[in-house]
Amino acid sequence: MTDQPHLVIVGGGLAGLLLASRVGERLNGQLQVSLIERAFPKAPQDSLDTRATALSRSSKERLASWGFWPDLEPSAKAINDIHVSRQSRFGSALLSDDVFQGEPMGWVIENALLQASLLDRCKRAEVDVIEGREVVDFSATVSRPELVLDDGREIKADLVIIADGAESALRQSLGIGVHRRAAVQYAIAFNCETDGEDRAVAYERFTHQGPLAFLPLPSSGSSRPRYNVIWCAHQDTQARLLRLNDRDFMSELQSMIGWRVGKATKIGQRAGWPLSVVISRETVRHRCILLGNAAHTVHPVAGQGFNLSVRDIHRLDGLIHREMSCDAPFGSLKRLSSFALDSASDHEQTISATTLLSQLFDTPSPLIDGFGSAALSLLDMAQPVKRRVAEFGMGRR
Ligand SMILES: Cc1cc2nc3c(=O)[nH]c(=O)nc-3n(C[C@H](O)[C@H](O)[C@H](O)COP(=O)(O)OP(=O)(O)OC[C@H]3O[C@@H](n4cnc5c(N)ncnc54)[C@H](O)[C@@H]3O)c2cc1C
Repeated sequence: MTDQPHLVIVGGGLAGLLLASRVGERLNGQLQVSLIERAFPKAPQDSLDTRATALSRSSKERLASWGFWPDLEPSAKAINDIHVSRQSRFGSALLSDDVFQGEPMGWVIENALLQASLLDRCKRAEVDVIEGREVVDFSATVSRPELVLDDGREIKADLVIIADGAESALRQSLGIGVHRRAAVQYAIAFNCETDGEDRAVAYERFTHQGPLAFLPLPSSGSSRPRYNVIWCAHQDTQARLLRLNDRDFMSELQSMIGWRVGKATKIGQRAGWPLSVVISRETVRHRCILLGNAAHTVHPVAGQGFNLSVRDIHRLDGLIHREMSCDAPFGSLKRLSSFALDSASDHEQTISATTLLSQLFDTPSPLIDGFGSAALSLLDMAQPVKRRVAEFGMGRR
């Protein structure tokens, strides 16, 4: 037991892990930090079954300023250019080095490697990682929130960070509602190996049913380039694609992306799910703050979900640090609410931009059709517009 204030983070996804490792390192010896995760995902055996996250330039800069980047950089793949195009229409844009001023726009890192690195940092920072246990009861009406684990253990917290994912049970037990946009598109995620050149280029293709994104992956044992692919389509198409054998699936994939990535030679396991957008109506309650997918689950079209969480974690890190010099840390709802105020416009902009991008070409209207192609052509010509789009991708606000 300790008389230090107790921060409890529920959910050891990437958002919970990053906050735990940052705050655990920064406030080691002043703040007791616990991280509760019911089951960390196991690292896949096959390099074609991994999942990956694109980190924006501003997320990379943040991780570098916290001293996290040297551990991650050897496993990260730079994205120098992003090629944006549209299925069976004129118009494409290359967001290139001229916009990014010689710096990569972002980096791709495999989730298993990011998770392992953050978990290692948590353990070195003496974060109490409670693995394999689930929070089954939660009460925040009392002066200090109480959590009950599935082994019967009771934990009292001075501040609870709710990072338990899109369908957050803790959010529900606080009675916080959500804005939910039912799925219009359905995703298929998988990795793909090709015989093309390994060129540090990401591809975003807007099809009639939603975006198709190819993110270049760091090299593995094979000499061939690997991509992490997210293919968004309407429900019936997604269901049909999921039923195809690998050969027929790759043939449809090839006809959709063309030859810009080379010939698809092999794919890993496919996973499919509906792309709902779930936004919490509140992010702060008495001694509780929502983080990550529990606060905002956005469309993966522009790879923004975790990057938004990195910016939230930076804001939370500042707030938690300031609270530590107060007489009663985390006791004032007014002070905690500064997090909601500070993050509101960033949340609104990111949610609107990703929703708009995901729907831009998913409408059979001649007006939208014409506008869509014109927008892509303009994007390739107009430097200020291109710069703005690039800045959004890089996480600048
Ligand atoms: C296909 C796809 C691609 C993406 N690509 C990108 C990208 O390129 N760039 C980007 O920025 N973002 C991307 N995102 C978004 C990004 O993955 C998420 O924003 C990020 O992983 C943060 O998730 P999280 O930690 O908030 O939630 P989750 O990953 O859902 O983690 C929640 C955790 O809480 C645990 N949990 C739940 N309930 C309990 C409980 N009661 N007790 C204990 N533990 C509990 C769960 O086991 C889980 O591990 C992508 C998302 C998808 C789906």
